[in-house]
Amino acid sequence: MNRRAVVVGAGPNGLVAAITLARAGWRVTVYEAAARPGGGTRSEELTLPGAIHDVCLAIHPLAVGSPAFREIAAGGALSRHGLEWIHSEVPLAHPLDGGRAAVLHRSVDDTATALGRDASAYRRLFGPLVDAGFGLTDGLLSPLTVPPRHPLTMARFGAVGILPAHTLAKRGFATDEARALFAGLAGHSFLSLGSPITAGYGLMLGVLGHVVGWPLPRGGSQQIADALVAVLADLGGAVECGHRIDSLAELPPNDAVLLDVTPRQVLALAGDALPSRYARTLTKYRYGPGVFKVDWALDGPIPWTNVDCGRAATVHLGGTLGEIAAAELDVQRGRHAERPYVLLAQPSLFDPSRAPAGTHTVWAYCHVPNGSTVDMTDRIEAQVERFAPGFRDRVIGRHTMNTAAFEAHDANLVGGDINGGVGDVRQFVARPRLGLHPWRTPLDGVFLCSSSTPPGGGVHGMCGWHAAHEVLRSTR
Ligand SMILES: Cc1cc2nc3c(=O)[nH]c(=O)nc-3n(C[C@H](O)[C@H](O)[C@H](O)COP(=O)(O)OP(=O)(O)OC[C@H]3O[C@@H](n4cnc5c(N)ncnc54)[C@H](O)[C@@H]3O)c2cc1C
Repeated sequence: MNRRAVVVGAGPNGLVAAITLARAGWRVTVYEAAARPGGGTRSEELTLPGAIHDVCLAIHPLAVGSPAFREIAAGGALSRHGLEWIHSEVPLAHPLDGGRAAVLHRSVDDTATALGRDASAYRRLFGPLVDAGFGLTDGLLSPLTVPPRHPLTMARFGAVGILPAHTLAKRGFATDEARALFAGLAGHSFLSLGSPITAGYGLMLGVLGHVVGWPLPRGGSQQIADALVAVLADLGGAVECGHRIDSLAELPPNDAVLLDVTPRQVLALAGDALPSRYARTLTKYRYGPGVFKVDWALDGPIPWTNVDCGRAATVHLGGTLGEIAAAELDVQRGRHAERPYVLLAQPSLFDPSRAPAGTHTVWAYCHVPNGSTVDMTDRIEAQVERFAPGFRDRVIGRHTMNTAAFEAHDANLVGGDINGGVGDVRQFVARPRLGLHPWRTPLDGVFLCSSSTPPGGGVHGMCGWHAAHEVLRSTR
């Protein structure tokens, strides 16, 4: 008789965990509170009919680069179910005042050359890390207990990745362009750029840009969830949407439960069943800043001053290293930045299926304090207008989400935190607790598989993959 697993939550981690167990011969059912599967990977018509917007995530270097997705996609399993990656001409652009811009090209050499005086510094920093291919990124997405396949590359990464991004950018580069480019990459960490390991976040995302690009799925991020659900169905597994679980006691008989939820929800689901020490650890778990997001429908492309910005699916807005560092420091101190660091994606420029002919969809967010209800629309639009005068005149539809709207959309986005908890040094190592088996809970057969476990936030599915392998090891 096959063993039976129950997964709570059909986010990318829950679905990857489900597929990994189904491939090992388990019968798997996934219960999902929302009407559609996918968690952070859902897309909806938020502005105009026919305009497809990614409600949460939009850009997917991690999904293409992660060992879990590579394993699932092998032999065309995901593409058979409609998942197709689109690459913009360049992965990323970062405009500066005066019509200048830094550009992350697929090639290290092209990126370096365009950075002029910083060409050799860029080559020295990124070249050896990129040369290791998946060797570095696979190592970073693996548990700390697994010996790296490329120890020298990992050591080289560790020596600079441990630094605050501000220190590395300031000491390593001389030009505004190179410093700003690195600040934008590191800004994905949701930490102050003066904090240790923020350089590591910047390096990881830059390396992925060179190794796999920063692609987007044709038709919207929902295609990722739909393809994963189809692969699971091929293996005999099922997803029940519109089925919220409020207590572990509601679950059918099983051999393992995997929770694609964050510590606060684990406390609610398990009630008094958790040993008090573990419950205390979960209670102390820290959530990070939230996001405020705007989606627009436009009657034409964004009128960027610098043409390179129209060649990139992702554009980082915020100006220089100093400006981005100041904006992120504001957020860490519980304030709302006047000139926020804005992450913007313009998918319809490269995927016409996202918007009716002649129109475009644009996605952008900035960081705000956890639980914020401040409307950042004007400040975000001012940053776009700064590098693309006339942008506001093209807006024909607008949809905004504050941190409460995000939490209502997906209960894992606690206070608007998109990463399942702060990813600073402490919670990078102890996620959600220190130990060799962070995916296990003290409850027999109950495991955590969300981004509140290693390796943390992002659509790489590795939290689910590690949790599923933990299940397989413990039930051998
Ligand atoms: C605005 C925004 C932008 C982002 N941009 C990017 C990006 O560009 N690239 C990237 O890699 N990542 C990005 N992310 C982060 C990414 O979305 C998350 O890291 C990822 O979705 C985490 O996956 P998960 O499976 O752990 O959780 P989730 O995707 O949050 O899925 C959890 C699922 O569990 C369900 N659930 C919760 N509680 C229950 C319950 N009690 N019963 C049943 N179901 C339940 C939820 O409804 C949800 O479907 C972004 C996120 C946001 C919000």
